[in-house]
Amino acid sequence: EDRIISGEADIQDSSFELSLRPQSLKQYIGQDKVKENLEIFIQAAKLRQETLDHVLLYGPPGLGKTTLATIIANEMGVNIRTTAGPAIERPGDLAAILTALEPGDVLFIDEIHRLPRSIEEVLYPAMEDFCLDIVIGKGPGARSVRLDLPPFTLVGATTRAGSLSAPLRDRFGVMSRLEYYNKEQLKEIVIRTSDVLETEVDELAASEIATRSRGTPRIANRLLRRVRDYAQVRADGSVDYQLAAEALEMLQVDRLGLDHIDHKLLKGIIEKFRGGPVGLETIAATIGEESHTIEDVYEPYLLQIGFLQRTPRGRIATPLVYNHFQLEVPSD
Ligand code: ADP
Repeated sequence: EDRIISGEADIQDSSFELSLRPQSLKQYIGQDKVKENLEIFIQAAKLRQETLDHVLLYGPPGLGKTTLATIIANEMGVNIRTTAGPAIERPGDLAAILTALEPGDVLFIDEIHRLPRSIEEVLYPAMEDFCLDIVIGKGPGARSVRLDLPPFTLVGATTRAGSLSAPLRDRFGVMSRLEYYNKEQLKEIVIRTSDVLETEVDELAASEIATRSRGTPRIANRLLRRVRDYAQVRADGSVDYQLAAEALEMLQVDRLGLDHIDHKLLKGIIEKFRGGPVGLETIAATIGEESHTIEDVYEPYLLQIGFLQRTPRGRIATPLVYNHFQLEVPSD
């Protein structure tokens, strides 16, 4: 089931998002620390007429990693070639991509933590010395040849920096962690998107959408799109607070951006496990989601707003959860 409050892209997002992507660091809202660093590294690389160091971007889905990779290429004035960890199955796949790059190009590898280990090993010398050792042939006739590559910048994106092997992680000169956006920044993103969509959205409505977006631009844009549909059908197409609130209520996204599955998860911990601790696998079974999806996509926000705590013995629901559901916090 697709959840409207998922930070992961769904099929409807992709073409819609292309038109919304900011093209320069200046247009990229928020993430000030990350932008400031990148600005300096980009300037310096340009002054020295060198390629930019390899960059690792990490953080939950929908926070703008792909967007930032595109912006890095734009700012460097080079092309970007995009692929993803699971798409590269054999060393030859990677070799084909690398040998087709122009000097200075950006190679963007999304979900880089899902690269097979054998591919990672091909990537090390490529990142370090811009060369490729490939084995040609099989058995006793096999021999290794070394290919020179054009210098390039690898931009890797991952939701879990912890799953990257140490040698791969060490080869990134720049590591930037993307943070959840605050309400003001999300409001700015909603307003920017409404301009692109030529939809009138007033300040209060934009704020309301921002509040329910789980700190995530992708969700903000998606909620705006749905609210806009609602406005077109139920009203004259422009979005005010009342209409936004009604539409969001209908979409079952609450004041904190939680949906019915979050409710089920949180209430389950409270009602069935007396607030926890309860293991991730048990939670996953209770709500019928994969445990890694919970860990990468849904849980980070619940941790961020202080609803869940992670302990060695499992997840604990904090008093904030009881308050949210207007339940009494148990005395033990
Ligand atoms: P990720 O790669 O981290 O999953 P994306 O880069 O695909 O996220 O971002 C999802 C969408 O959110 C983009 O299409 C873009 O429109 C929007 N977005 C992300 N970050 C920003 C930002 N800082 N400012 C404006 N829009 C953004």
